Amino acid sequence: MRQLQEICGDDNVFWRAEDLLVWEYDAGFDRHPPSAVAVPGSTAEVAAVVKAAHDAGTAIVPRGAGTGLSGGTIACAGAIVVSTARLRRIVAIDAAARMAVVEPGVPNVAVSAAAREVGLFFAPDPASQRISTIGGNVGTNAGGPHALRYGSMVNHVLGIEMVLPNGEIARFGGTAADLPGYDCVPLIVGSEGTLGIITKIWLRLLPLPEDIRTFVAIFPDIDRGARAASAIIAGGVVPAAMEMLDNVTIGTLNAAFDVHLPPDAGSLLLVEIEGLHEETEDWAASIERLLRKNGATDVRSAASAAERELLWKARKLGYAALARIKPNNYLHDAVVPRTRMPEVLKQVNAIAERYGYVIANMFHIGDGNLHPVLLFDARTEPIDRVMEASAEILKVAIDAGGALTGEHGIGLEKNHFMPWVFTAEDLDAMRRARDSFDPDGTMNPGKIFPGGEACADIPTERTKRVLAEGMWV
Ligand SMILES: Cc1cc2nc3c(=O)[nH]c(=O)nc-3n(C[C@H](O)[C@H](O)[C@H](O)COP(=O)(O)OP(=O)(O)OC[C@H]3O[C@@H](n4cnc5c(N)ncnc54)[C@H](O)[C@@H]3O)c2cc1C
Repeated sequence: MRQLQEICGDDNVFWRAEDLLVWEYDAGFDRHPPSAVAVPGSTAEVAAVVKAAHDAGTAIVPRGAGTGLSGGTIACAGAIVVSTARLRRIVAIDAAARMAVVEPGVPNVAVSAAAREVGLFFAPDPASQRISTIGGNVGTNAGGPHALRYGSMVNHVLGIEMVLPNGEIARFGGTAADLPGYDCVPLIVGSEGTLGIITKIWLRLLPLPEDIRTFVAIFPDIDRGARAASAIIAGGVVPAAMEMLDNVTIGTLNAAFDVHLPPDAGSLLLVEIEGLHEETEDWAASIERLLRKNGATDVRSAASAAERELLWKARKLGYAALARIKPNNYLHDAVVPRTRMPEVLKQVNAIAERYGYVIANMFHIGDGNLHPVLLFDARTEPIDRVMEASAEILKVAIDAGGALTGEHGIGLEKNHFMPWVFTAEDLDAMRRARDSFDPDGTMNPGKIFPGGEACADIPTERTKRVLAEGMWV
């Protein structure tokens, strides 16, 4: 402890049980306190903390804002948490090079705002963008509504500075277009803190689009909405974003944000296109035609920037608004081939009905990212049953040719499902890649890989705790 305090300063190290309470959870379900928390203020301090931990054989968990939904920041095996809360500098916005250089603790939305000031924009926009950090976005390869057209985080990271598990500082990628040697950047993006602590990121910025148009299309049911989404992509126009909301979600957003969406709509598509005026003019006509042809009973376009912003605000804060229905929810993050979406949604809703859960669907339909939210009350409904229903939903997605996660990562929550989609050989190859960075396995142990690792006891603790306390806060 003394050593951590000498490196970071007394005020930036937490170790008392009462202080650690707020570091024992993130936005997922699992909980476990770290043995201590260090909040370094520079790359040099991060390196010194990591070296001290390495020399003492202590595990480390990197942490951004803790909005992760797969338990990626839950500390186990006596690990200390290293928080990036003091690494919040936007080092440079280089308009000519269309690039930003930032520290990992910078919130996503701050990069977008700084880029806009010079006529550029930063495309990755997770719904959590007001709080989640760039370091966490890189750690999870975050997506968001605009990933449909612009791709997820990995498409926007040019370079990374990272403190390796032994405390050395390394840099990967950078500003040149074609660097020789192994391209480690895509390996690090989405590695969930298992390869090192990212301390600086070079980000790609894009020119602001000349014109943006946002449509709301109303459908009598989910099925027709899903088919219309597929028809739009098949028709050759890739919108910047395409989100689907179901009837439960529409009701909640109306109540929470005053957005006046039709309350008896079976589903709603929020479609956004952006480009040059001439392009958007043509695309708008084609999209409206396809929406109507595929069953839309009404298609409206946002009349002003303010209306557009309200729609997106409702969409992005909608997850929290679901607490109006039930105090707890479990948000899924599977991916399915877009064309299989209608049948998968039917099966997902049937599972929720069989278990007796209200389900809300609010998701990035354009890229097949499925986000059914199971609503429940953990004071009376055991979490294990929710997890059982969730495993069934995941199985449906995998059987339809989908993936375990589209954007939230594997973390602690889905590591035991990895053998559903990877062979022993696949997993072994991935483990060896991790070992080449972290031979001692001290960097975020127990995450991503299934079986017998450091955090294996946590799901049991979770169950015991919920049952014992009869509640989950
Ligand atoms: C309401 C809500 C909406 C959300 N919407 C979206 C969405 O639309 N799209 C989406 O992709 N996600 C979404 N998420 C999930 C979450 O916000 C993202 O996963 C986000 O990228 C996490 O950022 P964070 O700063 O909170 O990271 P944390 O939760 O602190 O960490 C996430 C992972 O990254 C690792 N990590 C963090 N910082 C570093 C670092 N400096 N170096 C190395 N590893 C690091 C951690 O170890 C952990 O494994 C949502 C979450 C909530 C609560």
